[in-house]
Amino acid sequence: MINVTKPYLGDKERFKAYIDKIYANNWITNQGPLHAQLEERLRDYLGVRNIILVNNGTLALQVAYRALGLSGSAITTPFSFVATTSTLHWEGIRPVFADIHPETWNLDPANVEAAIEPDTSAIVATHVFGNPCDVRGLQQVANRHGLKVVYDGAHAFGTRFEGRSVLQWGDITTVSFHATKLFHTIEGGAIITEDDELAERVRRMINFGIVDAERIEGVGINAKLNEVSAAMGLCILDELEDILARRAVIGQHYERRLQGAFDLQRPTYGSQLNYSYFPVGLRDEPSLLDTKKALNAVGINPRRYFYPSLETLDYLQPQAIKPVSRKLSHRILCVPLYPDLPQATQDLLIDTLLLAQQKKTSMESLRALITPAQLLPSWDFPGDSSPVLT
Ligand SMILES: *Cc1c(COP(=O)(O)O)cnc(C)c1O
Repeated sequence: MINVTKPYLGDKERFKAYIDKIYANNWITNQGPLHAQLEERLRDYLGVRNIILVNNGTLALQVAYRALGLSGSAITTPFSFVATTSTLHWEGIRPVFADIHPETWNLDPANVEAAIEPDTSAIVATHVFGNPCDVRGLQQVANRHGLKVVYDGAHAFGTRFEGRSVLQWGDITTVSFHATKLFHTIEGGAIITEDDELAERVRRMINFGIVDAERIEGVGINAKLNEVSAAMGLCILDELEDILARRAVIGQHYERRLQGAFDLQRPTYGSQLNYSYFPVGLRDEPSLLDTKKALNAVGINPRRYFYPSLETLDYLQPQAIKPVSRKLSHRILCVPLYPDLPQATQDLLIDTLLLAQQKKTSMESLRALITPAQLLPSWDFPGDSSPVLT
C-alpha cells in the first residue's frame, strides 16, 4: 500500500556518524551536544529568538499553556488533530470552539471574537495543513481582549508568511517533530517564543523545575529530547531544502491537475506553503467513502484528516455544532505526499480521484488505469501480484 505519509529516514551513513559520536562521548540524553547543535541550527534556520526542544508535540502544547499561566477557557479550532483540544482538557482549561473560515480552513478571527467568554484566557489556533492562520486578525482580537495566543504549528515547519517563518507568531508556537511530520526527530517537538523570560520558564518546566543541582523553582515535568532523536533531526535538517523542493513539485502537480474538479484549501495571502499535506475536498461523505474505496483498490491509502470535528469529542461538555468544520470534516481526504512519491503513482492516484468523482470506478475502469509504468518496485500488495483487488 502507498500510505498518506512515509517517514523520511535521511542518509544512513550520516546518521551512523552521529551515532558514533554518541558512543564516543557516552552522552545520550539531558541537553547533550547534539541537542545543543540541533537547537542552534533550528533557531538560525527558523530565524526565531528562542526554541526549546521537547520530546513530543503534545507535551509542547501542555507546557506552553502552563508556562503562560492559562486558566478558565481558551477559544480553539474544531478542525485540527485531536491533541490541540485534548491538551487543553488535560490541563483543566475548557475548550470553547469557534468555527473556521470556509476557504482557508483556519480559525476565523470574527468567530473567535464572538465566542469569547468572561473566563477566556487564550486563543489556541492551528495552522491547519501548514496554511498560515490570519495571524494579524487573531493578534488584534487577542490585544483587544487581553488574551494570550498559542499556535499549534505542528504542520507549519517550513511554511513562510510574508517572507519569514510563520512559527514566529503568537506568544508561543509549538511544533511536533513526530516521524510523520515534514521535519522529524522520530518523536519530538519544540516550543518557540520571542520572550526570553518565558523561554527560561519553559526550560525549567521541561526539566522538573530544576534550576541547578540544588535549586528547584516551580512545578515541572520531564519533556526532554534525547541525543538519538537529535541526531535524526540533524541528518534531516541537512536535507531540508531538498525535501521542501521535492514536496513543492509534488504538491504543485496535484494543484494543477485537481484544481477545478475538487475543493482545495485556499492558501492564505502572503504565504509560501510547505506542502506538508495535500487535502482534497470531496462533494460529500458518500462521495468520500466511494473515493476511498477506489483508491484502496489501486493500492493507495488516503487518510481522513481531520475527522471527527473536535466539538463532537465525547469527553467534553456538550458543545454547539460548528457547521463549517463539521461539514468539512466529513469530506476531506489527505492523499499521499512525500519526497520520493513516484510521479506515476501520483498520476494513477489523480486519475482514480477523477474517475471516482464521475462515479466511474468499476473494476474494469480502475484496471485500465494501471499501466506498467505505474507498477513500480515500491508497490507492495500482500499476497497478490495484481494491484487491483478482485
Ligand atoms: C502531530 C500533531 C500534534 C501532536 O504531536 P506529537 O508529536 O505526535 O505529540 C499536535 N497537533 C497537531 C496539529 C498535529 O498534527
